[in-house]
Amino acid sequence: VRKGFEEPLEGDARRKAVADALELLEPMASGAFAESLFDCPLTVMHGVGPKRAETLGKRGLRRISDLLFHLPVRYDDRRALVDIEHLEVGRRATFTARVLLVDFVPQRSRGGRFRRIFQAVVGDDSGATVNLKWFYGGEALQGVVKKGNTLLVTGDVRRYRFQKELMHPDVDVIDVEGRDVDHALQGLERVVADYPALEGVPPRTLRRLIAAALEEYADLAAGHLPAPLVKQRGLPAAADALRGAHAPPPDADVEALRERRSPAHERLVLEELFLLEAGLALRRASLARQPGIAIAGDGPGTRAAPGALPFTLTGAQRRAWDEIRADLARPHPMNRLLQGDVGSGKTAVAFLAAIATAESGHQAALMAPTELLAEQHARTLRSLVEGGGETTRLRLALLTSSVPKPEAAAIRERLAAGAIDLVVGTHALVQRDVRFANLALAIVDEQHRFGVMQRAALASGTRDQRVPDVLVMTATPIPRTLALTLYGDLDLSVLDELPPGRTPVETDVLRRGDGPRVMEVVRATADRGEQVYVVYPLVEESEKTDLRAASESAHRIAAAFADLKVDLVHGRLDAAARAEAMARFERGETHILVSTSVIEVGVDVSNATLMVVENAERFGLAQLHQLRGRVGRGTRPGTCLLVARGGGEESEARLTALLETTDGFRIADADLQIRGPGEFLGTRQHGKLPDLRIADLLRDARLVSVAREAALDAVRRDPGLRNQPTLRDAVRARWGDRLALADVG
Ligand code: ADP
Ligand code: MG
Repeated sequence: VRKGFEEPLEGDARRKAVADALELLEPMASGAFAESLFDCPLTVMHGVGPKRAETLGKRGLRRISDLLFHLPVRYDDRRALVDIEHLEVGRRATFTARVLLVDFVPQRSRGGRFRRIFQAVVGDDSGATVNLKWFYGGEALQGVVKKGNTLLVTGDVRRYRFQKELMHPDVDVIDVEGRDVDHALQGLERVVADYPALEGVPPRTLRRLIAAALEEYADLAAGHLPAPLVKQRGLPAAADALRGAHAPPPDADVEALRERRSPAHERLVLEELFLLEAGLALRRASLARQPGIAIAGDGPGTRAAPGALPFTLTGAQRRAWDEIRADLARPHPMNRLLQGDVGSGKTAVAFLAAIATAESGHQAALMAPTELLAEQHARTLRSLVEGGGETTRLRLALLTSSVPKPEAAAIRERLAAGAIDLVVGTHALVQRDVRFANLALAIVDEQHRFGVMQRAALASGTRDQRVPDVLVMTATPIPRTLALTLYGDLDLSVLDELPPGRTPVETDVLRRGDGPRVMEVVRATADRGEQVYVVYPLVEESEKTDLRAASESAHRIAAAFADLKVDLVHGRLDAAARAEAMARFERGETHILVSTSVIEVGVDVSNATLMVVENAERFGLAQLHQLRGRVGRGTRPGTCLLVARGGGEESEARLTALLETTDGFRIADADLQIRGPGEFLGTRQHGKLPDLRIADLLRDARLVSVAREAALDAVRRDPGLRNQPTLRDAVRARWGDRLALADVG
């Protein structure tokens, strides 16, 4: 712009210059402008060529914003200097020292090659000295670590032979010989950011790049938090927050910085959470406005259906059903989470919803995370269909990748023709080329494995303009703090009541050598005419080994109990064989079912009362809880034996949690504490967690609520954020794709 006005201009030339300037400036008016600059590849920076960009990219630094939000992991307090004499081994320290000696020392490396180690002996007034060492990069340091120079040194002190030394310390020249060190020190005595080490990127380079990005781009960080919130919490401006986190002022509270609770951190975390929560609020509001399909749910069949079930609904089930029925009746899509512990009866509720959908002339789909679960669901639903006679007549089909091709093709055809009311399958159901005649209800089981991002894909995957109702069922109770964000766009129904007559499963942890005890319990269970599960963990890398362990165990058990029938189920069996084995177990023809973790969830045999989990230390807490939920489903009490053969502190913590409670919510909390939210929900790559740059849904739980309140308020006052285009654009730029917000506002 400046260039365009360097010459004095007249008339048309002037008009043109103004027009050009406007064109250049125009994009800056958009809230997405800063985001778009933040999105620039690092090659736009000085000193970053394709090669360096590639190295940085491999370490996750691709864009300007990646640099800006690559926050320090540590802060060195260089205001507190120590004497070399008092350096402590194992501590990080900052001190000033004069360079006494420098040298390159050749040393044979492991690979047999020689390398030159750059060494320096430095000392201070106390007369003490310490060694500094660099395995690489010595050449570049020669100008800095030079005999006679005084340095400010920061690093971890370690012992080598009889001396203290620092490997790859940070060094800054304070001054060259003869000048006043104290005076020169002023500018260096501060709190300095220490970044996570990145392979292939020298720390100095990284620091320089971040400083440059800060200098050039930080001021573009607009900040979107509502002004009153900023004021109320006394937060710095967004740009100042970035600077405050990377280059803290001399009077910074270093403890607050280290614990990420400085005002700068709070601002950055809140900013990020606010945009996410605003996205969720927008999504929720826009979903509620979308055209949906109204399913009356008051036809004679639907009204009679609860009475046709083989049991009376619990109070919780009735409440949930009422809520769902009300949602179905609205001409907008339902987005509801049905949360209930294992065995709380979610399937029955989903079944009623499917009945109502079919009676209104529409189709329903139930998606499970695994084929085995889909098969199990299909069996359960089929028995409900058949048990209810005329009332519960549904045309049901199972569609998984194990269904033979011609049969699958026939099912797809019937789905497209509207000749199937309820189809059960894995979530591949929505991804493959499946066409529904009139899908109106999508039921997603065990949603904790999917998450909000997947659901966005699901809703947009239908061909009809009208969005189907979505009912999400989860057996793993999600702690509230996470649920608010993961399911921030869902309404919630909770089944907080188990069907009558259930007694808590008795749980015991056994160790190596307790084999005879396990055999005893198995015998006693079988003698009572009850059935047993024995489960082996499946670890993908070694499927064969696991399979061998499971089949050896099956043989051992079969040999020990000649009178009992033992079956083996594992993921390598084809679907028909698996289904046949499960069916035999359900009919009570086999007494003991040995399996890899395939029966993890969903299997429902009320006569099975003993669950033996081998190598329990290798299962996650949620999995163990699910497995335990497989027994004690009838009126007879269940027992769960967790056989641990090793494992560390974490697995012990899991086992202890299981001994202490059977309450799914408390287990979920414990799980979250033990593993942290990323692990708790699965890995980020699977998109279960929104990938946040700075905020942490667990650590920053308190701020999640603050951000959420603020976001809900903003969207309530200004639906679609029409009057806040800057905020709206920023939300779209950041979360638009992943939350399918394209049509918002
Ligand atoms: P979830 O899917 O929540 O784990 P299910 O729907 O599979 O639970 O139900 C678990 C078991 O409880 C099934 O055997 C089911 O038939 C039974 N059940 C469900 N609701 C009731 C009820 N209200 N009374 C008695 N048994 C029930
Ligand atoms: Mg179930």
